[in-house]
Amino acid sequence: MKETQTEKAALAAAVSARLTERYPAAECALLYGGDAWRLLVMGRLSAQCTDKRVNEVAPALFSEIPTPAAAAKTPVSRIEELVRSCGLYRTKARNIHDCGVLITERFGGRVPESEEDLLSLPGVGRKIANLVRGDLWRRGGVVVDTHFIRVCGRIGFYPETEKDPARIERIFEPLVAEPDRSDFCHRVVLFGREVCPARAPRCAGCPLASLCSHFLQAGNDDRK
Ligand code: SF4
Repeated sequence: MKETQTEKAALAAAVSARLTERYPAAECALLYGGDAWRLLVMGRLSAQCTDKRVNEVAPALFSEIPTPAAAAKTPVSRIEELVRSCGLYRTKARNIHDCGVLITERFGGRVPESEEDLLSLPGVGRKIANLVRGDLWRRGGVVVDTHFIRVCGRIGFYPETEKDPARIERIFEPLVAEPDRSDFCHRVVLFGREVCPARAPRCAGCPLASLCSHFLQAGNDDRK
């Protein structure tokens, strides 16, 4: 694991460069079409659900609730039907409805841009707030999801036992510039799914192997 800020900054720059080469587009896996309301809702639905499933329910969902105002007018029971396959559907449907009401009443029908306002919405935590602010406005901290926690722990930004999203977000604050955090996170997640999954990471041929503490500590010294 890298101990000093200088080492961590150099590691972040090297990881970012290699992942940018591999994933130039840095696309969000949620197909939200550049719309803040859609990303907010899809971010909420993605908790304990796959992005693929969220993308599948999105067309029918947003044909009925394309805006916060439409969600405010739609009965929770109807939203439950639309999001049932995403799991935790009662809570998620209630959150979507209540977000619609609050955004309509307090924020003039537009998803707010400030962290404080986003965090005041039901079901919206730092992960979703950072996702929305980062993707839409290039603001906010890194989006710390399960892939990000695992991959960055293995690489050596912090101990692999570290799982606290708030601490991890703070670690990256000085390492990745605010406008670049969204792209950095999307690339780490794409990489985590494709090359460094929870079980059986594909270290042979991994483009980050020569930078990775997990790999090097396992006795692999054939640095690239
Ligand atoms: S070397 Fe292995 S553990 Fe390290 S980032 Fe690559 S796949 Fe993950």
